[in-house]
Amino acid sequence: MKGSTVRMVLIGSPGAGKGTQGRLLAEKLGIPLISTGDMLRAAVGEDSPMGREAQSFMERGELVPDGVMIALIRRRLEHGQDTARGFILDGFPRTLEQARALDTMLSELHQPLDLAIEFRVRRVELLRRLTGRWNCHACGASFNLQTASPVQVGVCDHCGGELFQRADDKVETVSRRLEVYAAQTEPIVAYYRERGALRVVDGERGIEEIQDQLAAMVGSRAKA
Ligand code: AMP
Repeated sequence: MKGSTVRMVLIGSPGAGKGTQGRLLAEKLGIPLISTGDMLRAAVGEDSPMGREAQSFMERGELVPDGVMIALIRRRLEHGQDTARGFILDGFPRTLEQARALDTMLSELHQPLDLAIEFRVRRVELLRRLTGRWNCHACGASFNLQTASPVQVGVCDHCGGELFQRADDKVETVSRRLEVYAAQTEPIVAYYRERGALRVVDGERGIEEIQDQLAAMVGSRAKA
């Protein structure tokens, strides 16, 4: 699959598996995975002005204002040297305003979007996944204490890095993030459906099965 150009966005509730699938697919395709959540967490860690602005929204499970997010992605897409053969966006757009801004940006860059993939997962499963989730500081891999526990507690199976639990994976914040998704992000599904870009995957299937489905979607996008 390496060699083809593809620009895609991954849409789905927190815990739907966008990060896990995006990371695997990006590696397979040899294109960058651009995760706005990871970019914001890095900014918070560095205590940059943007990080300080974003932190309180993130801790409450609310969205960071559109203006901040659109500027962040604009900088990444305009100045990144690595997106000539495409990219996978994980966690952006999250509002209709962000979706429209992305379209404008990509048309200015003459890099139209190929695919918008929606991951569907039931609420009961999302809650189970999010509250048991641990991530690797070093490589970003995701584990779940109930379903995909690391071999050694607190240590990444893939790279030996230290695992941490996200502050916003606490039960109260998780419920708010799911509400915010339904109210503010779900409308972008219809937006991409109307444009013929939407594909849907059942996010409760196995990791490998979903990867195969995504690979097939990427392979057939020209005819879609
Ligand atoms: P994520 O890792 O994608 O779940 O993002 C973690 C948090 O970062 C979210 O709950 C939001 O507070 C913030 N965030 C990430 N991406 C966006 C976005 N596109 N728009 C607004 N807020 C965002």
